[in-house]
Amino acid sequence: RVTEIDAIVLGAGAAGLMCAAVAGQRGLRVAVLDHAPEVGRKILISGGGRCNFTNLHTAPDRYLSQNAHFARSALSRYTPQDFLTLVESYGIAWHEKTLGQLFCDGSAKQIVAMLLEECAKGGVTIACEQSIRAVDHADGMFSVQTDSRQWRASALVVATGGPSIPKMGATGFAYELARQFGVKVVQPRPALVPLTLPAEEALFRELSGVATPVSVRVTQGPWGKAQFREAALFTHRGLSGPAILQISSYWQRGVALGVNFTPDAPAGWLVEAKRNQPKQGLRRTLGEHLPDRLVGALLDQLQLAGELGAQSDKALRAAEARLMDWRFDPNGSEGYAKAEVTAGGISTADMSSRTMEAKSVPGLYAIGEAMDVTGWLGGYNFQWAWASAHAAASAMAER
Ligand code: FAD
Repeated sequence: RVTEIDAIVLGAGAAGLMCAAVAGQRGLRVAVLDHAPEVGRKILISGGGRCNFTNLHTAPDRYLSQNAHFARSALSRYTPQDFLTLVESYGIAWHEKTLGQLFCDGSAKQIVAMLLEECAKGGVTIACEQSIRAVDHADGMFSVQTDSRQWRASALVVATGGPSIPKMGATGFAYELARQFGVKVVQPRPALVPLTLPAEEALFRELSGVATPVSVRVTQGPWGKAQFREAALFTHRGLSGPAILQISSYWQRGVALGVNFTPDAPAGWLVEAKRNQPKQGLRRTLGEHLPDRLVGALLDQLQLAGELGAQSDKALRAAEARLMDWRFDPNGSEGYAKAEVTAGGISTADMSSRTMEAKSVPGLYAIGEAMDVTGWLGGYNFQWAWASAHAAASAMAER
């Protein structure tokens, strides 16, 4: 059976559903195909089930890409406010949690229901449990073969995301397709992912479950300098928590992390504390800034004990400096199984930043996480999915 339409969207995730809805509402005949049994699975589990659907501070510098300017055009034409207006038009209650992160008050299911309703308004066909057997391109037409039928259209949108969380149906299919069409792929890697520590850091692994606010930075590395001030969490394998997930996108093997455990303490605070309270134990002094279990581990490493007055100023200054720039050398990450997103992907060099269309293959579009555009933690990745989807749909409607 052959069905001819205007646009085939591969992947019924955040980007695919948004793109199909907008294109459908602009008059195109659109079908979305997905191999999963249900649409928008990552939306459903996102933000702890409440979906952090955008971030008010969205700006191109909060995205990693080989072309730092690529996301600018799409992000400026479909903004967090645009998505919020859509959310509000469905009466979905929301709140700002922290740092510009907007969440549903209720459930992420509301976002999926909204996208499905938007697709219905555009007369979009959605087909789940479709194995994509083959994709071909001839005479300006794309054809997609599934088990049961063939779809033909002059536009094909790749919205199958990246391989993070394979157990949810995530695959590297977008990269296979890109290569089939001669479009380059930037080496994919897990991002927004917990980092693992080597055996010699076992002391810290015993702190599993301890969380503390830190400032963490990398000063060198292929993606430049970066610094994040949020909570870090010790795990049985290493380090996690928002600060670590954020910095993981800028980390690669061989790059050290500098963790400031006392980001709020003024310079010279330990010597000052010694002057004011020489009889106070170091443990108690550090405990004013840090969780107790962590203090014990840090003092062991610093080889310090006893009262403040018993320490030399030099030793206290050295301890303060170390607490402000504690070096960790992760030996890896927890990989795609735990990565919230995949960095790298379909190279922006081969795509138009205005339309998301491949420069060398007219009618072929790529959107969302499949692209080499990776946002920070906190709603930035969904905003990229919505904005890139909107850009592609608008361009297809204008063809
Ligand atoms: P996806 O949403 O991954 O959709 C891709 C679709 O393609 C899927 O439906 C998949 O089944 C389908 N597919 C894949 N391979 C094939 C194939 N071979 N054949 C057919 N179909 C295929 N981002 C935020 O901004 N805020 C959050 O709160 C947030 N929380 C997250 C929590 C978790 C646990 C995870 C894993 C991610 C979270 N993210 C969050 C990231 C966000 O989910 C993604 O960036 C976003 O879903 C990307 O949208 P997408 O449409 O490009 O890809």
